[in-house]
Amino acid sequence: MPDQHTLHSMLDAMAGAMPHDPRITRRLFVRRSSAWMLAGGAVSLLAACGTPAASKDEVAALRKEIAALKPGEADPKAAAHGAEKPGAPAAAHDAKHWGYEGEAGPDKWADLAPENAVCRIGSTQSPIDIGASQPGLSSRTSIKWQPSALNIQNNGHTIQADVTNGGAIELDGVPYTLAQFHFHAPSEHTVAGKRFAMETHFVHKNAKGELAVIGVLHDIGAANDALAPVFAALPKTTEEKQPLANFDLATVLPKDRGMYRYAGSLTTPPCTEGVRWQVLQTTTTISEAQVKAFNAIIKPNARPVQPVKARDILKDAIYKFQTAG
Ligand SMILES: [Zn+2]
Repeated sequence: MPDQHTLHSMLDAMAGAMPHDPRITRRLFVRRSSAWMLAGGAVSLLAACGTPAASKDEVAALRKEIAALKPGEADPKAAAHGAEKPGAPAAAHDAKHWGYEGEAGPDKWADLAPENAVCRIGSTQSPIDIGASQPGLSSRTSIKWQPSALNIQNNGHTIQADVTNGGAIELDGVPYTLAQFHFHAPSEHTVAGKRFAMETHFVHKNAKGELAVIGVLHDIGAANDALAPVFAALPKTTEEKQPLANFDLATVLPKDRGMYRYAGSLTTPPCTEGVRWQVLQTTTTISEAQVKAFNAIIKPNARPVQPVKARDILKDAIYKFQTAG
């Protein structure tokens, strides 16, 4: 049985998907949840959303029950928040609390904060093992990055370089502006079961706030010259920030830019879905010394691969990068 927070987030997800009074949906859900959990867990619960339907009597009874509640009790989520200690910024605390092992590890993320529920119950989670893929030539990403100043920070989970004016990518005609890039060691995505030494994620956002991430996998080998200026400026503490002028972003990518694409999520809490993932098929290298320098500051920070479920992984034909002006 999930804890209260997880339950409330699941209820919200269901309420949003169902044409009922959300309070009724929640109550109905709470009443039935134990049996449903036994029957197959939260995911099948969401899949079964709306079936079995509530009877008219059941809904009428629930309406009465809700009407009899004191204000503030009608919304279980609000009640849960109200129960938090005054002055305790729960969200900020939770955001820092998660990690990659033990009680704060990936299999516990959903329990750490209500907004993390999708980490457990989501159906399009990242990362994944990129196994069988199929040709998908209809969509193509054009990369229009430009050299930019960076502000490199250590957020306790990774080293992240905020990009001030790095340009954008265009994905199916929609521009997504590059916001930041960061590292995972070892890699989060695996290809046919193979894990790589490191993975760089370039995070882009469109005007609607939707995310598109480009992932580059790095194998152990020669030092990565393109990333060398960043690795020479890794902040050791969360207080330290390292500015870097005029970093040439495009040099981090391999020349062949065929991609694997799939619909996924953030790989860190709150594991938000709707992220358009593009992992480059061609890997680049990184030296052992560079990986060591990173791991001396950040412990292994890869979320385990998540079930692919019903998703398609599309594979572009590899094409050569055209240098844009
Ligand atoms: Zn990442």
